[in-house]
Amino acid sequence: MQGLEPSGALRLAVRDLHKSYGALEVLRGISLEAHQGDVIALIGASGSGKSTFLRCINQLEDCSQGEIFVNGEHLDLVHRKGRRVARDPRQLRRIRSKLGFVFQSFNLWSHMTVLENLIEGPTQIHGMHRDEAVALAQSLLERVGMKGREGAYPAQLSGGQQQRIAIARALAMQPEVMLFDEPTSALDPELVAEVLAVIRDLATEGRTMLLVTHEMAFARDVASKVVFLHKGLVEESGPPAEIFGAPKSERLTQFLKHVR
Ligand code: ADP
Ligand code: MG
Repeated sequence: MQGLEPSGALRLAVRDLHKSYGALEVLRGISLEAHQGDVIALIGASGSGKSTFLRCINQLEDCSQGEIFVNGEHLDLVHRKGRRVARDPRQLRRIRSKLGFVFQSFNLWSHMTVLENLIEGPTQIHGMHRDEAVALAQSLLERVGMKGREGAYPAQLSGGQQQRIAIARALAMQPEVMLFDEPTSALDPELVAEVLAVIRDLATEGRTMLLVTHEMAFARDVASKVVFLHKGLVEESGPPAEIFGAPKSERLTQFLKHVR
């Protein structure tokens, strides 16, 4: 399989992705492209396949059909023992390291301090020197407003603080694309804003991001494009002003009525 033509700006391309759990086909052919600086908000009802889609992109789930390109590099997938998996584990690691994943539940390593959480990936996976990794961690902690908390353990932090550390940890791997799966939905309402502020900053500085969210006002504000999923298919997509201001599909109209 060949890679895409080096287009430079195309950071992520997904072509005709399908995924089934047994007889249930939860992704029924999803295609999506993200160019440098795109902030794509993925919206849709619970169960429409948003999380599965993100998880297939970095192969936390295998997909039954479809192609994935990260930074122009085609992920080489082969059928093995009834599964469709990466042919080359080194390529999978390389591609994964270009994707920063932030989950709904913060998933920090609870036995490690904040600093250790941040330097683990860069030193262990990228082979970065500890001093350099610490310097990178410090600058990222500043960016997410958590400077001075290097020695804290996750359990000593609020949910909003933990999620900001999780974002910093993903950034420490210097990914090309950030994938967020409902990063604020496990937070107490008063902690949502501080996490959204960090994501907004990343959007402003031109990060390429795919963001699953129920925060419609935020999506409208920050996204360059909105994709509405319905039962494993892209039902409608477009600029936020159109998606929220003039939805064409009846399903999207109904969905928006319920989330507002
Ligand atoms: P969303 O994130 O949009 O709420 P999901 O991607 O989590 O949706 O789920 C899509 C569909 O796939 C749902 O019907 C869900 O029940 C099903 N599903 C998700 N994960 C699994 C799994 N591990 N095994 C079986 N079914 C699953
Ligand atoms: Mg989900």
